[in-house]
Amino acid sequence: MGQAKREMMEAEDRGWYEPEGHVCSDCVEDEFLKEVIRQHASQRQCDYCGRQTRAHSAAPVAVLMHPIGSAVFYYFNDPTQAGVPYDQGWLSTPTGTQDVLMTLPLACHDQLFEQIAQAFVHTEWVPAAGGHWSSSHLNEELSALWDSFVNIIKYEIRFFFQHASAAKSANPWEHDPRHILLTIDRLVKRLKLPSRLPEKTSLFRARIRSEEADWAIGAEQMGAPPSELARAGRMNPVGISYLYLAFEHETALAEVLSGPPCAAAIARFETQRELRILDLTHLPAEPSIFDEARRPERESLLFLERFVEEISQPVRKDAREHIDYVPSQVVCEYLALVFRVSRNRSLDGIVYPSAVRPGGRNLVLFPTERGFTRLFDQVEFQTAWEREFADWADLSASVGAI
Ligand SMILES: [Zn+2]
Repeated sequence: MGQAKREMMEAEDRGWYEPEGHVCSDCVEDEFLKEVIRQHASQRQCDYCGRQTRAHSAAPVAVLMHPIGSAVFYYFNDPTQAGVPYDQGWLSTPTGTQDVLMTLPLACHDQLFEQIAQAFVHTEWVPAAGGHWSSSHLNEELSALWDSFVNIIKYEIRFFFQHASAAKSANPWEHDPRHILLTIDRLVKRLKLPSRLPEKTSLFRARIRSEEADWAIGAEQMGAPPSELARAGRMNPVGISYLYLAFEHETALAEVLSGPPCAAAIARFETQRELRILDLTHLPAEPSIFDEARRPERESLLFLERFVEEISQPVRKDAREHIDYVPSQVVCEYLALVFRVSRNRSLDGIVYPSAVRPGGRNLVLFPTERGFTRLFDQVEFQTAWEREFADWADLSASVGAI
């Protein structure tokens, strides 16, 4: 077999030809691809931007083809190979290679982009997870698992959902609701999300103060409400009180105030020891779409981002919150009572983004002792003060965007 014939067969197997030319790391945007270029640099001049360096800085374009090709085939495939049904046309309309590369997206020097697009054996593509047009990626499967959990908990079985398989459901595609709790448990540990909150960290809590309010602004009134008064919250079911705090007093105010004229009492608490928290406001950055080895991590993060967005959605207080909060309440109770940071250590609370103040961070603390009077010995009341807001200018100057 001749050299050319062998190269062609190899390209057919791989899905792409290996283009000529050398490229420097300035000519691609993705950090992972930049690193691939640095590791394989074997020439002092870039054939695309013309940059010259003393040390080797440009790598053969061929070394970029594996990570780019692997990303393309992770998301797309040729319609024939993807098993798309054909009936006077493809059931799923194919797109060209350039569109596929832009969807990823591959951002690089124009001439390089063109050359890479030309290097693929196929010219038509359809979205295809794992090569098949009707399959799903891990993050889509996890999202479906979450949707199914939300549906069951809200509308089918509330308390004995671990026996959901015994109940007759009209939806045969539903998943066992326990799976999402175990999946979240596993992902949170694998991504090492539990973190530490140092002792003496300031935290804030605000309460609306109506004109007729006659309660004293102090430790007792500014703590968690007693169980019999505990209303349903994003993370706690009605009657089971959790302590809601914020990292900024502006966020604490924004969470409770609706519009001027109004008044609020604000209290500052301090952590009494180092706390173990699950910080959902600092998820790790997604690995590059071209980093094949870290693809499972990327998929897990894509799901967790959606999960965090969902549980921090603003919910209208129109009595619907009793049902809309149920899924996050179940997850929260699981994290409070079942989840273990280490063998004998459970979580003190969860940090989640404020739905009303962009960039604001909330912390919900779980009781250290449950009962008619709950104990939140993770924090201690420090001081409290009152603020009045006459108009919007006054209010927005104090809480930022709400
Ligand atoms: Zn260059």
